[in-house]
Amino acid sequence: MSITYEMIVGLEVHVQLKTRTKAFCRCSTSFGDHPNTNTCPVCLALPGALPVLNARAVELAARAALALGLEVHERSVFARKNYFYPDLPKGYQISQFDRPLAERGTLAIGGGRSIGITRIHMEEDAGKSVHDRFAGFTAIDLNRAGVPLIEIVSEPEIRSSAEAGAYLRALKEILLYAEVSDCSMEEGSLRVDANVSARPVGEPSYRTRTEIKNLNSFSNVERALEIEYARHCAVHEAGGSIVQQTMLFDAHKNEVRGARSKEEAGRRLLRAPAVEPPPCAIADPLARTPDQPGRAPSASAKDASYRSFRSRQDCRCSGLKCKMHSGAYYHAKVCVRRP
Ligand SMILES: [Zn+2]
Repeated sequence: MSITYEMIVGLEVHVQLKTRTKAFCRCSTSFGDHPNTNTCPVCLALPGALPVLNARAVELAARAALALGLEVHERSVFARKNYFYPDLPKGYQISQFDRPLAERGTLAIGGGRSIGITRIHMEEDAGKSVHDRFAGFTAIDLNRAGVPLIEIVSEPEIRSSAEAGAYLRALKEILLYAEVSDCSMEEGSLRVDANVSARPVGEPSYRTRTEIKNLNSFSNVERALEIEYARHCAVHEAGGSIVQQTMLFDAHKNEVRGARSKEEAGRRLLRAPAVEPPPCAIADPLARTPDQPGRAPSASAKDASYRSFRSRQDCRCSGLKCKMHSGAYYHAKVCVRRP
């Protein structure tokens, strides 16, 4: 008798914030400039360089968190994620680990379904390896190193590839509306990692998952999930076990295969030392009181108000069309205090 399996998916979405300059220095974030021209001692981590946090990046990250209904912590802390990779020659990425910017939100994806959002944390991007520029060599472009990102981590509550697609479309719509990112997958400002596993329906615990990295379109996410899920089911059916590993999706060959992982190379997380940016505090006094649709915002709140889809949870429309959405403003004052 064959067992019925269900797909278990959690998504990690990296979104580039719409700032003019990088997260910890004043280099431009503009896309398509000549390689390695937008770099400086800070984003190259030369000795003695002192990173200074870009307040605008924090504001946009907090706005994204509020639009997705997360609780923004008054204090969050940066950490160094240590690993070496050619596109990260400084040897660590500034990220957040045990004290992220925001936690616990939800995203309605239609059909009465909502997916929990575990956390949103801030981090900087790495550089880019260019494999097709010089025959036999890989070139490194560090223009992207230090560009501000948020990582949006969902709960493993997605149950099909179609739900993964719906989640991503809803997420992109909100991020575009809140004007925190241009969400261009072609330019790499929205990238998706998908964690997938399969388990027999009714089994309470999760089985071993694999992670498909750097998916660059929503349809590729859906295709890759179907392929990898089918592999999991086949392995379980045959009595085998899944090895936890990082996978890559080849859209041309329509296959998912194992990849050498950055993460497996002895990654270590450390609290960022004193030379790193100080912890930032975010004050959002009004964020704790959910917005009342139709209530006129005060003049001061208006200045700092952010439109939000928060009330989407309470209405039945699929987008921006109803009064509740067009009239719903989210008032939050986000400031970055430096101790
Ligand atoms: Zn720089």
